[in-house]
Amino acid sequence: MSTIFSKIIAKEIPADIVYEDELVMAFRDIAPSAPVHILIIPKAEIATVNDVAPSHEAALGRLFTVAARIASDEGIADDGFRLIVNCNKHGGQEVFHLHMHLLGGRRLGPMLAK
Ligand code: AMP
Repeated sequence: MSTIFSKIIAKEIPADIVYEDELVMAFRDIAPSAPVHILIIPKAEIATVNDVAPSHEAALGRLFTVAARIASDEGIADDGFRLIVNCNKHGGQEVFHLHMHLLGGRRLGPMLAK
């Protein structure tokens, strides 16, 4: 089922796009949790990590190379950053189009809320 991210990919709704190629797109999170908060998504409609298949490996690998490139472009690579992929209810997933959060720009603290 399509989500709001498919509409962003199709340019039907606006987003602050920072990177795009044939496999992935990256845009700034609308409700940032850190000074840098960018979502990197495959263009293929993959709902959750539970739905990944070998045919998605090129796009999913690209999420990491693009994350590294954006971290460098944003000037946060050396200080460091965090990549998060939430899955389903216990993971706190809200948008069911697989996405990687790139968070940085400050010390992020412990990995999990208690
Ligand atoms: P998750 O909880 O991992 O599913 O994260 C979904 C993220 O998508 C949240 O951080 C939202 O703030 C973000 N988000 C939802 N709608 C938009 C949008 N239209 N543009 C940018 N980010 C969005």
